[in-house]
Amino acid sequence: MSARAAGRSHAALLTLVAAVLAARCAGAQPEAALVNAEPRETFSVTYTVEIPSAGATTALVRWELAGIDEVKRIRLRFDPQRFDGFDGSGTLDRRRGEVQWSPSGPYAHLTYRVALVHPHAPGKGYDSWVGDGWILTRTSALFPRSAVLFRTDIEPHPESRARLVFRLPAHWDAVTVMPAAGVHQFLVESPDRFDHPRGWLMLGRFHRTDAVVHGTAVTIAAAPGAALPSARVLALLDRALPVMHELMGRVRSRLLIVTGVDPMWRGGLSGEDSFYMHGDRPLQTPDRTSPYLHELFHVSAPFRPAADAHWVTEGLAELYTIEVQRRVGLLDDEGYAKALRLFARYGLWDRDFTRDQDRAIHNNSAPLVLYALDRRIRHGTGGAHSLDDVVGVLAREGGVVTTARFLGAVRRVTGKNYGAFFRRHVFHGERPPVPGVGIARAGPGD
Ligand SMILES: [Zn+2]
Repeated sequence: MSARAAGRSHAALLTLVAAVLAARCAGAQPEAALVNAEPRETFSVTYTVEIPSAGATTALVRWELAGIDEVKRIRLRFDPQRFDGFDGSGTLDRRRGEVQWSPSGPYAHLTYRVALVHPHAPGKGYDSWVGDGWILTRTSALFPRSAVLFRTDIEPHPESRARLVFRLPAHWDAVTVMPAAGVHQFLVESPDRFDHPRGWLMLGRFHRTDAVVHGTAVTIAAAPGAALPSARVLALLDRALPVMHELMGRVRSRLLIVTGVDPMWRGGLSGEDSFYMHGDRPLQTPDRTSPYLHELFHVSAPFRPAADAHWVTEGLAELYTIEVQRRVGLLDDEGYAKALRLFARYGLWDRDFTRDQDRAIHNNSAPLVLYALDRRIRHGTGGAHSLDDVVGVLAREGGVVTTARFLGAVRRVTGKNYGAFFRRHVFHGERPPVPGVGIARAGPGD
């Protein structure tokens, strides 16, 4: 690789750091970039998560850092309801929800406690839970958000070598998206210079299925009592992954799916290279969409929405659940048309999609408008292009998608300006007619 190319890829990695971190907050999470070139590692981090007993609802977490003369300060931010007891070497400046840690080198450690039970939204189930002999959570629930200030006068190119170690009750297993590096140990690789653990994870006694599906190492970890057999999820992935790979222009290397049971969140939640799904959710719902394919789209898409473009990422994720099913023969034309009619009926119309974050807009209005846009693109380009090409452009470029950038991608693919279509159906939220399936032009009283 030439020096110029190396410099470019480094810049790209830094951009992706920001992408991955921000996506964690936004909910839609791109696959993290894998570090291709072996960077020179200048310090090491060992994260140890100890579950003191089966049934414990608190984990003890310890960071051990070695050779860290170049680390000046680490700012940790967290939910003070769940994290406490911060202690460590060097100096800790504690505030509510924040610790400024000056670890002092070359060796340092930090310890804290973290609650393992966490509701996703009030009254709507948990996204981190301790079951009978198992724990389902994600790394972002165990590790504070952190920002590291390096002393580049000491080390101009700081880079960590990191691993994650679980200390677990007897006979417990651990599964994460990170590569295994021993018993209950994982190699932590993130685009950061200071590597952070990534993705969903499950600990304890659970049902685990591993398979390679079209080049992707898939693991399904199911909590006891999850209704949907893993074999059926694998069968869906066997059909859907090639379509998703084609759409995004790349084969993903890993995918972890964790399934929970009540009282956990009764839907899906995407993470880095991984997603959560409630074990009662079917592969296809009565409205013909698919919660699994929705999360698979989020995990596969290497772009994230700006504040004005959740309608784009949610709408694409939902539209492609029926689109992928149709392409692989799981949904016939009538089923597809029915899904579109339900989008029309349950959509929220005459709202500005870029400002209104109503679920009915994300799940119904936006996918119907994107379907109508796809029809226009196909018609306008004589069948040469489609919405797939627009998604391909966004996937290739990665980063943040705004409504304006999405419109720009449509223009670049088609050579035409769809500003009028966006004004009418996105900013004014007018329901688009789809005469082919009996969705008439919106009129007064609709
Ligand atoms: Zn979504």
